[in-house]
Amino acid sequence: MKKKYQIVFIGPPGSGKGTQAKLLSKYLGVPCVSIGRILRQQIKRNTKVGQQVKNYVNKGKLVPGEVVNQIMENYIKKHQQGFVLDGYPREYRQAKFLDNLTDLTDIFEITLDNKIAKERISGRRNCRCGRIYHIKYKPPKKNNKCDVDGLKLYIRADDKPVAIIKRLNLYRRKARKISALFRKKHILHKVDGRPSIAEIHQSVIKKLK
Ligand code: AMP
Repeated sequence: MKKKYQIVFIGPPGSGKGTQAKLLSKYLGVPCVSIGRILRQQIKRNTKVGQQVKNYVNKGKLVPGEVVNQIMENYIKKHQQGFVLDGYPREYRQAKFLDNLTDLTDIFEITLDNKIAKERISGRRNCRCGRIYHIKYKPPKKNNKCDVDGLKLYIRADDKPVAIIKRLNLYRRKARKISALFRKKHILHKVDGRPSIAEIHQSVIKKLK
């Protein structure tokens, strides 16, 4: 029988957890859900949820737990066969909520210090198509334009300096309790977030086996 994977990635902003979650989901053939991405889409479409969360997301603050828990519950119920989560849970109550709802199989905690995280986030440039570049590590071929569709790249409102510091502090404050909870009940793999994307992906796969 095919193994069921219910996987969570936690890590500070800039640690590459979104990238790793996506790579692992492709490798395992299960869907990946990024709650941050869902929230940004809601804001872009100006839906009721979007209007509710816009100020939180743009300032780098946590969206109220009920909103994200509801979105995640709907998603998880539809994907009992497996998933990789990116950006959820981000606080203890979300972690408890998720734990009651699932049979988590593996938790990956990507570690990275604030200095590198800040450098990574502040160089990040996004295209509306969803592609992400970095001015130093993955620059677009043409200045500030997406390689694929030529659209002008933008900086996420919460990737600006004041919001970055807020988000990193928030993560440090909340993460310890989440990993303590998961460490007690599940397999928690710590992964160094400094190597290249490919190297981290390989160590994630190794730890999974
Ligand atoms: P991300 O794309 O994961 O960096 O998330 C972007 C923003 O979405 C965060 O700074 C929060 O404002 C919001 N957000 C994402 N995940 C959560 C969560 N689990 N709980 C509350 N807010 C969240």
